[in-house]
Amino acid sequence: MEFRDLKRQYQELREQMDSAVLSVMDKGQYIGGSPVIEFEKDMADYVGVKHAISCANGTDALMMALMVLGVGEGDAVFVPDFTFFATAEAPAFLGATPILVDVDEETFNLDPAALQAAIDAVKTEGSLKPSCIIPVDLFGLPADYEAIESIAKAEGLYVLEDAAQGFGGELNGRRACAFGDIAITSFFPAKPLGCYGDGGMLFTNNDQYAELLDSLKVHGKGSFKYDNVRIGVNSRLDTLQAAILSVKFDAFKNYELAATQEVAKRYDQLLTDAKITEDASIPLIPVGYLSSWAQYTLKFTSNELRDKVQEDLKGKGIPTMVYYPTPLHRQPALAPYLAHTQGSLDRTIRLTETVLSLPFHPYMTEEEQEEVVAALSESLR
Ligand SMILES: *Cc1c(COP(=O)(O)O)cnc(C)c1O
Repeated sequence: MEFRDLKRQYQELREQMDSAVLSVMDKGQYIGGSPVIEFEKDMADYVGVKHAISCANGTDALMMALMVLGVGEGDAVFVPDFTFFATAEAPAFLGATPILVDVDEETFNLDPAALQAAIDAVKTEGSLKPSCIIPVDLFGLPADYEAIESIAKAEGLYVLEDAAQGFGGELNGRRACAFGDIAITSFFPAKPLGCYGDGGMLFTNNDQYAELLDSLKVHGKGSFKYDNVRIGVNSRLDTLQAAILSVKFDAFKNYELAATQEVAKRYDQLLTDAKITEDASIPLIPVGYLSSWAQYTLKFTSNELRDKVQEDLKGKGIPTMVYYPTPLHRQPALAPYLAHTQGSLDRTIRLTETVLSLPFHPYMTEEEQEEVVAALSESLR
């Protein structure tokens, strides 16, 4: 069994995929061109924002977004403690100070009360300027943008939505990647919408930001490529990846996102029926939210139980993953910034000890899910 079966997806899409890829090679334009432009337009339309700007990966997208917002030395950037490293790496790379904030134990996402406390603590301490919040749509579930946007407004902070795992999610009718001043996603193969390599995208309604991003991603170009008006980077989505993504995006819109909802519902039911819920809680999707299910993650009652179950399932050839085994505040690279992080991070610590993500993808069959649940039952018996 595969954790996320990308080969099966390719089998389903093979005909269109091969012809999309071959057509790029026939035309011989490997950077830019209509596949990239059309894909950007389709993505902006779907999300409901004015501009979608493609780039080389999600980490570059975070970094360029922060550059556009002018984040750097002396700035405090608030990020959840429970996320992938890149969320804190991007502000640190630009000289800013990531402030790690605890998450809600039910949704795994940034806790607005902890966020407010962290902002207050930075203001009291006084050496850094609160500048930006980077909420993460962890495992496909949008963060609590209604609460976060109101805090950001009251405090005069930017919001950068890290939807690397969140593409396709919704909150009260608004789609992920439409929140904040700028939003980003990643097309890393295992994300909800992945390519066959690295890729990323930025989203914004702000014309000025979009223009700056267009320049930054091509060496700070001015009126043309060899007119360089600022220091930028080289961060583009390959034409081949754009062609691949166009095929995958159609499948995502037409049936994959709906299929993931079915697979999640089936897990919920099977796990409840098998009483796994006595030892582990199933994911909570609050009213008004839609998850794109980047991960289906259980939370066990203890660390010992989680580790035993993972070991037992591995013995049966069922792959599971721990996202994430280490809170960001225990990552050695972030140690120099920790003096500025004040609040408790206990909930993140508990999550790193008890979470376990199950095999999950839109092509998963009922039989495969039953096999996973039977193995869980046996391990817990
Ligand atoms: C994957 C991921 C990123 C980085 O995306 P890449 O395309 O791998 O650079 C950033 N933030 C989060 C939350 C992610 O999961």
